[in-house]
Amino acid sequence: MSITENIKTLRNEIPKHVTLVAVSKTKPNEAIIEAYEAGQRVFGENKIQEMVAKWEALPKDISWHMIGHVQRNKVKYMAPFVDLIHGVDSYKLLSEINKQAAKHDRVIDCLLQIHIAEEDTKFGMTQEEAESILTDEKFSDMKNIKVVGLMGMATFTNNTQQVKDEFHKLYTIYNSLKTLQPSINVLSMGMSGDYELAIQEGSTMVRVGSRIFGARNYSH
Ligand SMILES: *Cc1c(COP(=O)(O)O)cnc(C)c1O
Repeated sequence: MSITENIKTLRNEIPKHVTLVAVSKTKPNEAIIEAYEAGQRVFGENKIQEMVAKWEALPKDISWHMIGHVQRNKVKYMAPFVDLIHGVDSYKLLSEINKQAAKHDRVIDCLLQIHIAEEDTKFGMTQEEAESILTDEKFSDMKNIKVVGLMGMATFTNNTQQVKDEFHKLYTIYNSLKTLQPSINVLSMGMSGDYELAIQEGSTMVRVGSRIFGARNYSH
């Protein structure tokens, strides 16, 4: 299957209210152009330098999402253009994004990453940590960020029930945090292996890589 066909198939499968983020990490610009020509405009990357290089080279109407773990000292490189940062896992990071966004007179949309998986290799905060950020008085002073939702990753397992339970837990947290913060209306959950389950459990944004572009080759 070609990238074009994969995009078309996914478009037919995914409900209209769910945003498809095409995860293009490690893939060359030509692959992104093929997806772009099939109508895809939202792309996700997990390394800031790689995203910056692609942003410089590719059409300017692409919406770039940072889906990976973010190092605070690199926020400045993506602050001029990034549309959504999925992996915000601390107050300190949010505050750095706010500072860098202000330099460009922008408001950067952010998702708080919630830890729902069994593995502790996955980043993210607890519901309580997210609540304490949203209710902190300093939070309302941050005019150059907007928390628009939550992101989470399920455990990497064949146990469908466990994945379903973890997504359901995140959906419950999402509904609860919405009452604290009315700007919350995005729930980023689901990847190539589990996006159908994630959509059943209330996802509004799926991050799909290999299902579009094929398997990734890591040289490192
Ligand atoms: C790589 C990655 C994806 C996409 O993974 P696939 O299994 O290839 O769809 C989604 N989310 C995050 C955070 C990733 O790092």
